[in-house]
Amino acid sequence: MQLPIKPILFLSIICLLTNWAYTQTNIGHTEITKWQYGKNGAVSITYDDGNINQFKYALPIMERLKLPATFFIITGGIPGSTYHGKFIGRPVKDIISESATIPTNAENFFERCSAAGYLGYKGTITYHTKAASVYDEGQTEHAYLLMDTLYKEVRNGDFKPGYQPCDEVLQEKGSTWEDFRRDAAKGYEFASHSITHASMPALDSANIIYELEKSKAEILDKLGKKYTFSAEVPYGYENSRVMKYAYKIYPALRNRMPEPWLKEIDRASTNTPGTTDKDYIQWQRGATTKTPLSLMQSWVDTTVAKNNTWLVLVIHGVDGLGYEALPHTLLDTYFTYIKNRENKIWIATFGDVTKYMREREDTKLQSNQQSSKIQITLSNPLDKTMYNIPLTLKTYIPVNWKKASIVQGEHKQVLTPLKDKKGSYILYQVSPNSSAITLAAI
Ligand SMILES: [Zn+2]
Repeated sequence: MQLPIKPILFLSIICLLTNWAYTQTNIGHTEITKWQYGKNGAVSITYDDGNINQFKYALPIMERLKLPATFFIITGGIPGSTYHGKFIGRPVKDIISESATIPTNAENFFERCSAAGYLGYKGTITYHTKAASVYDEGQTEHAYLLMDTLYKEVRNGDFKPGYQPCDEVLQEKGSTWEDFRRDAAKGYEFASHSITHASMPALDSANIIYELEKSKAEILDKLGKKYTFSAEVPYGYENSRVMKYAYKIYPALRNRMPEPWLKEIDRASTNTPGTTDKDYIQWQRGATTKTPLSLMQSWVDTTVAKNNTWLVLVIHGVDGLGYEALPHTLLDTYFTYIKNRENKIWIATFGDVTKYMREREDTKLQSNQQSSKIQITLSNPLDKTMYNIPLTLKTYIPVNWKKASIVQGEHKQVLTPLKDKKGSYILYQVSPNSSAITLAAI
């Protein structure tokens, strides 16, 4: 017998809808969305070295577009700083004279390299930078030879007396702590990039700790605790000995972030985010003068198309000053491209995205439905003075709620519910640390 298919289908849909309205099982079901505001991905714009042109030419573009950013600054060269570059150790004249009879070896390499910039002559710091780079690549004999050459030239009087910092420190000239305080008050993140832009894989522990700890102390004193969260060890090193010290001093490093829930793709890698069983991917990209704008834009497109990717952009030079300097006109076009996708991506500082992910991963959430109310409590073991980025919650509510009120402590919001295939829900921001949240129909 041929059944009348259309009426049966119609009746089934009516039954399903009626049934669903009265026995909807997911009421109160709450999740913390992967990114703030339930967006598809995150983008952080970061600048290294505190180069004056970043503030002169790139920052005004970001201000116009209302884009946040993170500046990793070298603290020792800013006028008024308490902590400057110095060698922690015995008198350098003893190290210089010892080098005449004892060649550089595993026992004295770190000491000689730590002292290399502070021997009392100009131009010696480049030996320290180069030696650290080859040492980190495993070319120890080459690194020792560079130190032997430097100390021999010093003994021979080949250098002019004085002190000459890294080029990156000189590129900061013009910036003041007052400028940084003013920009920080506008919402920009300031973070440490050491005292002297030192090449840490070739420093001994006392000098590594000095560069990291005292740069943090300087930022704490000049800008406040909020800005002691993030840091970038210069030259993007991932050296495990250096990282071990740095993790103890800074909660978040851009160099490496070994979280069990995070896949990392560093700047040197040609990998794209691809697939992962981890919750998040941190994808660092640094445009050089040879990078086409279309490629830079494709990084943003990939982030929009996925749901787990945090694009961390690394910028150095601007308008002819600094490493791989990009023209501000290119940055203007690129930043506008990013801004135009803000409905899909969360644009936030490096520190804020890190805090959000950690809060989400570490928060325990409980949801309780009592007659006409839904109560939600959140708890996490994180330091509440640092981890205070609002979390976005998505809670399913009864379909007959026309509007929902959300009360958390003193804070009250009223929202219109949205719908997806699982039902009616609201998307709202809450503090990760304060009292319980009550949702009710109004
Ligand atoms: Zn740098």
